[in-house]
Amino acid sequence: SPTPLKVAVTGAAGQIGYSLLFRLASGALTGGAPIELRLLEITPALKALEGVVMELDDCAFPSLAGVEIGDDPEKIFDGVNLALLVGARPRGPGMERGDLLSANGAIFTAQGKALNKVAADDVRIGVTGNPANTNALIAASNAPDIPKERFSALTRLDHNRAISQLAAKTGAAVTDITHMTIWGNHSATQYPDLFHAQVGGRNAAEVVNDQEWVESYFIPTVAKRGAAIIEARGSSSAASAASATIDAARDWLYGSAENDWVSMAVVSDGSYGVPEGLVSSFPVTTKDGDWSIVQGLEIDEFSRGRIDASVAELEDERNAVQELGLI
Ligand code: NDP
Repeated sequence: SPTPLKVAVTGAAGQIGYSLLFRLASGALTGGAPIELRLLEITPALKALEGVVMELDDCAFPSLAGVEIGDDPEKIFDGVNLALLVGARPRGPGMERGDLLSANGAIFTAQGKALNKVAADDVRIGVTGNPANTNALIAASNAPDIPKERFSALTRLDHNRAISQLAAKTGAAVTDITHMTIWGNHSATQYPDLFHAQVGGRNAAEVVNDQEWVESYFIPTVAKRGAAIIEARGSSSAASAASATIDAARDWLYGSAENDWVSMAVVSDGSYGVPEGLVSSFPVTTKDGDWSIVQGLEIDEFSRGRIDASVAELEDERNAVQELGLI
């Protein structure tokens, strides 16, 4: 039988983990091919994680080739082909932005170093834990032997939310929506772009033909969807975040659809005026574990302003972690 794909998940006992692990184990990422899970948690959460592993055992998933748990990143990341960095320090009461960045800085510095030391040569690293873009930047900066292109941050949930909103507005099926793009930071400043998206092959902005809806409804609805879900269900959007984490990893490893693209936050090469080195979301195509930024899109004035605003926020975050000596 084929060698299992070794996949690490951090924050595995958290809410996203509780959805993510079962989908991974059932073969949603590998298409049913064997997968080995390596689950990292902080020490106080290991007991809860043992309970989750009991449930994984009880599912008797045919594709689950093994599970290992622990609190030492150098052990858990040993030989992994994919690391999904979900665990992060949420903003607590009274916590300033600097506190949040330094708490996460410590986590992602240590994890970057451990990946650098022990991960498989072909490792890919996807960051879901927030602030995801800057956490990815910190991890990449602390893993000098891993090419920076192997790190990405999740904007696929925003991408999927944008597809869903556009489908609802136009009455199209989600499968008819293509070429969606999220630009910038996974935060309230993100820019979901309808000017290059298509509905059944037609330009989405023209199909919608309602700039007021785009500015006053579509963009804020996509950007603030997380808060709306917390408001409605009393806890965060963990299942959809898990689903998007798998969508992003699957396309990265096995390739995005022909004649379409996806959104991924990746290290900028300067494309579209995004300063080199920032981890920012772009339209990308993926093939065999590599991504490339879609080139040559025309950016109108409205889009330019939105992209610049989100990129300015990323620059602020980078400056802050630079000042803290994390990168
Ligand atoms: P969740 O599993 O709900 O969320 C984990 C991270 O994903 C958070 O940073 C969260 O950001 C982020 N996230 C990204 N997109 C979304 C989305 N759409 N909806 C919700 N969250 C999103 O958090 P829990 O607190 O339940 O679990 C975190 C776990 O991580 C805990 O078990 C903790 O022990 C663990 N942890 C492990 C570490 C390690 O392995 N070394 C280090 C730090 C924590 P946001 O905060 O903005 O919601």
